[in-house]
Amino acid sequence: MSKTAKLKAYIRTYGCQMNERDSEVIAGLLVQHGCEMVDDGERADIYILNTCSVREHAEDRVRGKVNLLSLKKGSGGKPLIALCGCMAQAHGGRLLRALPGLDVVCGTHRIPYLPAMIEESLETGAKVVDVSDDHPHQAPLRRGIRKSRVKAWVSIMRGCDNFCSYCIVPYVRGREVSRRPGDIVHEVEGLAGRGYREITLLGQNVNSYRGGASEDGDLCDFVRLLKMVNGITGLSRIRFVTSHPKDVSGGLPGAISRMEKVCEHIHLPVQSGSNTVLRRMNRNYTGERYAEIVEKLREEVPGIAVTTDIIAGFPGETAREFDDTVSLMEEILFDGAYIFKYSERPHTAAAGMEDTVPMGLKKERLRKLIDLQMGISRKKNRALIGRSVEVLAEGESPKDPSMLIGRTRGNRVAVFPGESADAGRIVSLMVEDANATTLYCRKAERKRRITNDQ
Ligand code: SF4
Repeated sequence: MSKTAKLKAYIRTYGCQMNERDSEVIAGLLVQHGCEMVDDGERADIYILNTCSVREHAEDRVRGKVNLLSLKKGSGGKPLIALCGCMAQAHGGRLLRALPGLDVVCGTHRIPYLPAMIEESLETGAKVVDVSDDHPHQAPLRRGIRKSRVKAWVSIMRGCDNFCSYCIVPYVRGREVSRRPGDIVHEVEGLAGRGYREITLLGQNVNSYRGGASEDGDLCDFVRLLKMVNGITGLSRIRFVTSHPKDVSGGLPGAISRMEKVCEHIHLPVQSGSNTVLRRMNRNYTGERYAEIVEKLREEVPGIAVTTDIIAGFPGETAREFDDTVSLMEEILFDGAYIFKYSERPHTAAAGMEDTVPMGLKKERLRKLIDLQMGISRKKNRALIGRSVEVLAEGESPKDPSMLIGRTRGNRVAVFPGESADAGRIVSLMVEDANATTLYCRKAERKRRITNDQ
């Protein structure tokens, strides 16, 4: 009998949707090995931290959590502490010296072997580390225990070839590998058949997707993949994330506009409005080119929501370069933005650049950009008051279980009265109030029943 059989396992996920999806896969693998997944880390025999390395702050939080868990270890050594994901890949076995309470360190490419590593540690009491970059077969990565019964993430590719100068991802997730289009379509058909209404196609840079050769011998690009997925019966919505501006093809705006299931939203990280900073970031576009892409998207897809990522205080960022970012934000008027201060990451080109922006100034610039965006988002959301929006009900609002939460096609969060049985339905809502992050709605007349057999 497996050493993990009947043990309770808990997964704490840090970072992006790619990690959320990996955690679903890990949960599926552990259940196959006889574990019971629990929602409360306090009850866990096996505590897994699926980590993020994109910012130093994320790593600091993980270190703090491991130290806390280590203090709680009982005489039987429980919980076993396993650390996987990008931080494991970035630091490998060195983590065992820094965090002696750790039992298992599992790299991003070794996820299918995590249960075996945990078993080995339980059986021998030894610390187990595997961060090799041999790519395991992709098949096990399709499975998993999905968190939502309404919407699902579908990985279409792993890794990244871009080497933006601040980013650790290519070093911890490896080079770009696209899944075969037929495998993706098969997975989405299965999800649609089981009642999932919305899928998000996931990749570090989905617009550079190049799937295996199709019947006519051509590689399948992202627009073609969207077309294939759009044809799947039973599905209501398709999203995709993340898009790199340099790879957005001329055909993408038309595809979003034509394909009824593809939601009118694009997450298009700009990172900076300054051409000199963009050059130092190795982003391969200018602020002008970025604005052109957004203009074309807005022309061809009226009402499309455009969200972005921005870094404040990149090494050497002058006052003028910072002002260029402010100007670009005022010009584009993003619907939302994730804004962070620059965080130096090992291995990256930017780590070797002279960082002339003091921490105090980085924080000040961060605050200024966040305040600017909050004002824009609030204004845009409040402009929707009195208008109707289509929302996919996802379930109870975590803040108020008497209300439901869902998202508009433009990915805005909507809160509205309803019952948990409504989860999985697409509802027509009237916006009554709004702030920078949330639309407060009531039900309008039209309602469409959507069944979900999960
Ligand atoms: S596109 Fe750039 S920022 Fe995005 S994952 Fe790749 S290297 Fe990192």
